[in-house]
Amino acid sequence: MSTPDTVTGDLICSAKGCGAEARWGLLWNNPRLHTPERRKIWLACDDHREHLETFLGARNFFKESVPVADLPRTQAE
Ligand SMILES: [Zn+2]
Repeated sequence: MSTPDTVTGDLICSAKGCGAEARWGLLWNNPRLHTPERRKIWLACDDHREHLETFLGARNFFKESVPVADLPRTQAE
């Protein structure tokens, strides 16, 4: 069972310089920094999903992409 981080508030693409609404959550893990169950989340719009997946995949950090609606949410303060 993996344990993804949660997302809060406005979901905006994580790509540098992009302010688009995110449509995907990219789940990743850096085994040198994170326990195996941990899932960091990057948010991506349709245009940047592939770019960010490739970036993470090249480092063997990439796990999977899920629609933002399926990400664990916490209420904004
Ligand atoms: Zn984007």
